[in-house]
Amino acid sequence: MLVTPGFINTHVHTSGNGGDYLLHDTVKTDYRTANYLSFAAPLQGKMVPPTPEETAALRAFVMLHALKQGSTTIIDVGGWRGDWDGYARLVETLGVRVYTSPPFRDRNTYTDAQGRIYYATDTAAGERGLQEAIAFIRTYDGAAGGRLRGLLNAAQVETCSVPLLRACKDAARELDVPVHTHAGGNLLEFQRILEEYRKTPIQFLADLDFLDERTLIGHGVFTTAHPWTHYPFGDDLRLLAERGATVSHCPYKYAKMAITLHSFQRYRDAGVNVALGTDTYPMDMVAELRWASMLAKITDQNYLAGQPRDVFHAATLAPCRFLRRDDLGRLAPGAKADLLLIRLDHLGAAFYVDPIKALVDFGCGRDVDTVIVDGKVLVAGGRAQHVDEEAIYARAREATQRYWERLPAWHWAGCRVEQIVPPAFPLHRAP
Ligand SMILES: [Zn+2]
Repeated sequence: MLVTPGFINTHVHTSGNGGDYLLHDTVKTDYRTANYLSFAAPLQGKMVPPTPEETAALRAFVMLHALKQGSTTIIDVGGWRGDWDGYARLVETLGVRVYTSPPFRDRNTYTDAQGRIYYATDTAAGERGLQEAIAFIRTYDGAAGGRLRGLLNAAQVETCSVPLLRACKDAARELDVPVHTHAGGNLLEFQRILEEYRKTPIQFLADLDFLDERTLIGHGVFTTAHPWTHYPFGDDLRLLAERGATVSHCPYKYAKMAITLHSFQRYRDAGVNVALGTDTYPMDMVAELRWASMLAKITDQNYLAGQPRDVFHAATLAPCRFLRRDDLGRLAPGAKADLLLIRLDHLGAAFYVDPIKALVDFGCGRDVDTVIVDGKVLVAGGRAQHVDEEAIYARAREATQRYWERLPAWHWAGCRVEQIVPPAFPLHRAP
């Protein structure tokens, strides 16, 4: 089998992904409401969050789902609140490596009865949220045998005020932890920041002194380099490179929305540190290698773009910069024993000369046979060795079902999930 370092998945919402179907099917006809706003902008006061049990069920599923498909380190960039002691216990039990803290913002997003998005300021909630995140890091950083670590999550660039972003970055420097925010993630956000501050989201964050080597930017798609922004003033890629910030590129999720970076190769050539993440389902880091490589070629119309060594680097060594870890993402003396054994020799695959090229060309997450984190074998023969996969799967499916059942109560048009996601063909089930 191919032995590789475990992948570092730089964009996972461990409890928020019951909304995936809404994200990718609902709103393609209206890109202004696309992306996370499709399920994070409910009718005000109408959304009942999942119970702590449901949140815990989703978290367990997401972490195991990602782990089995090659993510030995997960950057959890936020989702529903829940029981944080339980969260730490879950990381302990599942054996995965996680960087996180509860996300915060001081501008909530809602839709009115006509489906129009608006932002409602709640300064106190932002301050409370940041304090909760700091307390989380003080309590849990280093828990689960050092596998649970702190990272501050200012939710989105346009849902956090200037004072909150400044306070977040100050706290990150004081705690000596990395910081994440979503920026350049959708066109609406790009235009809002431009209107409010006369700058692109990247220029805005750079001027706030928010961008440095410890900063992870979720997506960073809508920049001066993207044709949809029609904004040729300044050079966001140069800014990202100069400040040393890392961009979390989630190629498959964006491809589903007919969007991509312009481009993986151009970012790299400009000196931007690009890491990979899955964001939504399926959290298959092997597939993301291929998507990153192929989309780079298509975007640049250059088959030499998106080389296997470069996308593999993006899943392993690149994220180590903002994490400031030289003991992850590599096979070397002194590095953590976070390893994958990947089976490429079977009838579903082709014969090959170079195993990394083969992995990018035809591998998939289900080829990951063995997952080892911190020297402990967590998955062997493709099966979790330490937890009951079927029970975790069943509980999360139930929690997702309940999330979908509650949808008409908060969706602006009262739609059911079947209306939002019309079946490809009429469905017939056995009686
Ligand atoms: Zn996200």
